[in-house]
Amino acid sequence: MEKQVLTIVCKINPTPEQVTKIEATLQSFAGACNYINEVVDPRLTHNVTIQNLVYRDVREQFGLASNLVVRAVNRVSSNRKTAKRMNKPVRKFLPTSADYDARIFSLREKDWSVSLTLVGGRERFLVDVGNYQKGKLSGFTPTSATLVKHQNGTYSVNIKVHIDAPSIQKSQGIIGVDLGRRDVAVTSEGESFSGQQITKIRDRYSRARTSLQKKASEGTRSTRRRARQILQRLSGRERRFQTWVNHNVSKHIIGKAKKSGCSIAIEDLTGIRERTNEQPRSKTERRRSNSWAFFQLRTFLDYKALGAGVEVIKVNPAYTSQTCHKCLHIHPVKGKSYRSGKTFNCQHCNWKGDADLNGANVIKLLGASVNSPGGSYLSCELRRKVEYFQPSL
Ligand SMILES: [Zn+2]
Repeated sequence: MEKQVLTIVCKINPTPEQVTKIEATLQSFAGACNYINEVVDPRLTHNVTIQNLVYRDVREQFGLASNLVVRAVNRVSSNRKTAKRMNKPVRKFLPTSADYDARIFSLREKDWSVSLTLVGGRERFLVDVGNYQKGKLSGFTPTSATLVKHQNGTYSVNIKVHIDAPSIQKSQGIIGVDLGRRDVAVTSEGESFSGQQITKIRDRYSRARTSLQKKASEGTRSTRRRARQILQRLSGRERRFQTWVNHNVSKHIIGKAKKSGCSIAIEDLTGIRERTNEQPRSKTERRRSNSWAFFQLRTFLDYKALGAGVEVIKVNPAYTSQTCHKCLHIHPVKGKSYRSGKTFNCQHCNWKGDADLNGANVIKLLGASVNSPGGSYLSCELRRKVEYFQPSL
């Protein structure tokens, strides 16, 4: 199995007090390295040998945490080895970086923050990471990092991620996931993520927002100001709640897929708003599927899947909610559907059940047909039907 080491650069924005601690740490770390390099016989390169000679001395002189001393010894040891290979002297150590291991550094996925042991105590920093970095870091417990000061005066924590094996697992099957209709998510395995409770809270926020927006535009000046303030607070609380929900739902689904060796299939909704061939949805349903929360859940699924090595298959969303997953029939009359609110009642094969569960299963079938072109009869048949029913795409 091959090991791949990736370095993920995560910018941090320390407060002035934290900058002082960071600078003290960088100074001490470089100072310790230079000191070690000076006092230890230059012929010695092995880290344990060097450590035995200077550990206590360095710890007393430089005020560094135990593991930072160990890291400094390792830095000198590896620079000496490189210098020896290149037949060059070891260069002076500059106060621009310090090495970290699992005892003095940790990453917290919940709020994307890192904590570092510095001279003067442990500090936590929010890291400035995008979806790429999140995808690489999600699900890992990184064990080493480097605190770096850049030439322009900014700081970053460069986290090392060891990836072994091919990054995407071989698929044992497919879990279809239907997102954002009545429930937050429903899987083809029959799991549904407590739509009612969450939707109720979301709708409550939505109603409150509507009434406040009315006040914000029509009331007296002070009412308008007050309404705007409440709206702002409401949106913050709603966002945090939804982010928490999405984090847990996506974590659960990807965890399941990872454990059972499955890929997941979801609808490809790029440009869904422009599409007109879906049956018109109700206003409430449109609000739900166009909301940022819905897109956040998809993003979370994507990056957690990437981190866990789970494949995500995007399928064409046309008619996923209209097709019967048992017999692949779509209501023959244009504008009519076997789906009615929460239930799906196929008048061709008489399958009756939860409409979202049906949707998730159609997504699963479509995912299988994407995954194995020319595969089973069923997937061919479904593809043929879907192609037949969507000539405009
Ligand atoms: Zn049917």
